Amino acid sequence: MFGPEVRCLVVVGAQWGDEGKGKVVDALAEHAELVVRYQGGANAGHTVDAPDGEFVLHQIPAGILHASTRCVIGNGVVLDPETLFHEIDALRERGVMMTGRLLVSDRAHLVLPYHKLLDAESARSKKIGTTARGIGPAYEDKYGRRGVRVGDLRHPEIVAKLVAAGAERANAMLALAGSAKRCGAPEIVAMLEELAPRLLPFVADAGRLVADTLQGGGHVLLEGAQGALLDVDHGTYPFVTSSSTTAGGAAVGAGIGPTAIDAVLGIVKAYTTRVGNGPLPTEAAEREAEGLRTLGGEYGATTGRPRRCGWFDAMVVRYAVRVNGLTGLAVTKLDVLDTFDELPVCTRYRLGGEDLVDLPDNVAALEEVEPVYERLPGWRQPTGAARTLADLPRAARVYLEGIEALAGAPIRYVGVGTKREQLIEVT
Ligand code: GDP
Repeated sequence: MFGPEVRCLVVVGAQWGDEGKGKVVDALAEHAELVVRYQGGANAGHTVDAPDGEFVLHQIPAGILHASTRCVIGNGVVLDPETLFHEIDALRERGVMMTGRLLVSDRAHLVLPYHKLLDAESARSKKIGTTARGIGPAYEDKYGRRGVRVGDLRHPEIVAKLVAAGAERANAMLALAGSAKRCGAPEIVAMLEELAPRLLPFVADAGRLVADTLQGGGHVLLEGAQGALLDVDHGTYPFVTSSSTTAGGAAVGAGIGPTAIDAVLGIVKAYTTRVGNGPLPTEAAEREAEGLRTLGGEYGATTGRPRRCGWFDAMVVRYAVRVNGLTGLAVTKLDVLDTFDELPVCTRYRLGGEDLVDLPDNVAALEEVEPVYERLPGWRQPTGAARTLADLPRAARVYLEGIEALAGAPIRYVGVGTKREQLIEVT
């Protein structure tokens, strides 16, 4: 994807997350000077099957596995400082060195223990399917203009004041919700005082770094987490995450202007999955869903939760093409479909006897839609060894052509396995 015309590339999930962004970012990062994560937090989990084993990355961009690529945690991320260091230590133990290569935006907000308490409480009372890692409450504090930013760690007196007010507010909310749990500001301040000397050496003005890299002719990859249908504005609200996962969020969350972005690659699975609650129009019957789940290893990288599985939904991907301005698609996990006789593909929805031209704006309607399927023949042979499109069975190519035409964006990559080399570049 990178070249003279594409120096700044956004990689986004074009379904409900878990599309295999980690693998694609890892593959493309080889050609990037900088990889920037622009939203979300430790609720994401990108799995990369690298030559020296499998790595699960939560907050650190998937580019970190390439020794010469610098990685940035952008201002749009809410950073959990404790788990960041667990991740850094685990990577170091496996020989991945990060000094001078990992940078954290001074403007990123911190996820604090009281955010996790509040999130756990809301997970108990609401049915949004949150991972209870404090992400939602940390974004609430950010937009409520009372959050603690990474750069604040340079000023202990500011941190102490913000944390005291935050803890008091959280305790009042916990009491109101009938929870007996409470948090103590002094413990949190002490924890941050201990972490600050470790975190501050990583801190930088990330937006400037991205701008300078682009100005110097370098290639920059902006890495999204979750997927378009979980975007706080464009997703299946309220069953969404708390940030802008779509490509527009990449500019804001990396600290650059939208005109700096040259291309947007949407990652889609060759079928559909979703974790947590909310509508999933093409959800398969349990026996077939179980087949997809087992063959595709569809269990959450962060939580271990089994994912709900279904067929490729062109309505969803077409919508993702529009709201992200996708210039290309990477279709992952084609190999997971290798054993099916027939593959239903949802081409449109019907509601109240009428065809819908687009996704409805509310979940009640999306729960009601009736997916209309076209059934494409399976190929019933392994695809994992394919390295070019021509190596794929004819029926697999017909399947890809079908989803490309329905989605309305060109396929640039096809994934046929977890390994780096199992990614076909469509030339
Ligand atoms: P992400 O959050 O979008 O990076 O996705 P996850 O890491 O949650 O899940 C993707 C999983 O699919 C990982 O275990 C990847 O190793 C795996 N994966 C990615 N691409 C392919 C592919 O083309 N085929 C197969 N079989 N697995 C893939």
